[in-house]
Amino acid sequence: MSLIPRAPNVKPGEKFDVIVVGLGPAAYGAALYSARYMLKTLVIGETPGGQLTEAGEVDDYLGLAGINAGDMIKTFSAHVAKYNVPILMDRVESLSKSGEEFVVRTKRRGDYSAKAVVLAIGVKRRKLGVPGEDQFAGRGVSYCSVCDAPLFKGKRVVVVGGGNSALEGAELLTRYATKVYLVHRRDEFRAQPIYVKLVKEKPNVEFLLNSRVTKIEGEKLVRRVTVESLKDGKTTELEVDGIFIEIGFDPDVEFAKRNGIETDEFGYIKVDEWMRTNVPGVFAAGDCTQMWIGFRQVVTAAAQAAVAAHSAYNYINELKGNTGGA
Ligand code: NAP
Repeated sequence: MSLIPRAPNVKPGEKFDVIVVGLGPAAYGAALYSARYMLKTLVIGETPGGQLTEAGEVDDYLGLAGINAGDMIKTFSAHVAKYNVPILMDRVESLSKSGEEFVVRTKRRGDYSAKAVVLAIGVKRRKLGVPGEDQFAGRGVSYCSVCDAPLFKGKRVVVVGGGNSALEGAELLTRYATKVYLVHRRDEFRAQPIYVKLVKEKPNVEFLLNSRVTKIEGEKLVRRVTVESLKDGKTTELEVDGIFIEIGFDPDVEFAKRNGIETDEFGYIKVDEWMRTNVPGVFAAGDCTQMWIGFRQVVTAAAQAAVAAHSAYNYINELKGNTGGA
């Protein structure tokens, strides 16, 4: 089964009922529901699977026990393909209104229009912003434990963060690295207790709590990470080969701002319980929304997506003057 989405018959200028922007679980979910409502649907996104491409095994999606994330993406993709929803691999630059329709402008493949739009644009990885971070990116600095852990077999690494990504990543890295330092700025974790327990059980992990990374150094590759105690200011130099920065994500504030979509103070798209944004006809789902911040799961993205597509269906019905929606 190919993961490469294709939209052979879609031509610039073509009109749709619904355009879903994004290609992660929320986008697949919205596309599925939209297609099942028999709405002419187009998906435009860049990375099939979105953030799920950076996950390993997923064991908390009902009915898909212990599924490999890659297989999960293929399962979602195949389900949407069953309804012949075209998928364009492109970046959406802007949305604008023309009469009752939205014009969705892509970076490479022209404009497409739709009566309703579902934004499932996800979030971007947060950076530490310390000296050496950019210089050694891809040369010892990684933002994805799941992707890069096997490259650190027999090495020593630092993991930064106290959320699910950091703890899950640290646990995975203990299976490859000889030593894992977990640096977290507090002494409490926001990760689910099960991940904290799993990491604490590992003999090759050392916790550096109430601490922050201040510097990453090396020659060609990372060789040293400096950690400062936030309690007494004492610094420690760790001789390591890699650092995994797993400190969460930020929304694409600029996209929302450019397109008149209202956000909360952090830049997450504001939605109501029906996943409606401030712009009638534009809905949002998944990690880009301000709903359920701190509990980002594939299942919550899928749930929001189903609601967003349902709302798009009702909205289109109302446009047609038919108020007997589902
Ligand atoms: P997160 O939950 O936002 O946690 C980010 C962590 O990094 C926090 O511990 C935070 O510290 C720390 N941090 C943030 N900015 C920092 C900075 N500038 N310097 C140092 N530390 C910083 O992010 P995440 O762990 O990537 O998870 C993102 C979402 O995906 C969450 O909703 C999570 O539940 C979900 N997720 C779920 C799973 C799963 O269910 N299996 C796996 C991975 C991710 P503080 O705690 O002090 O704020």
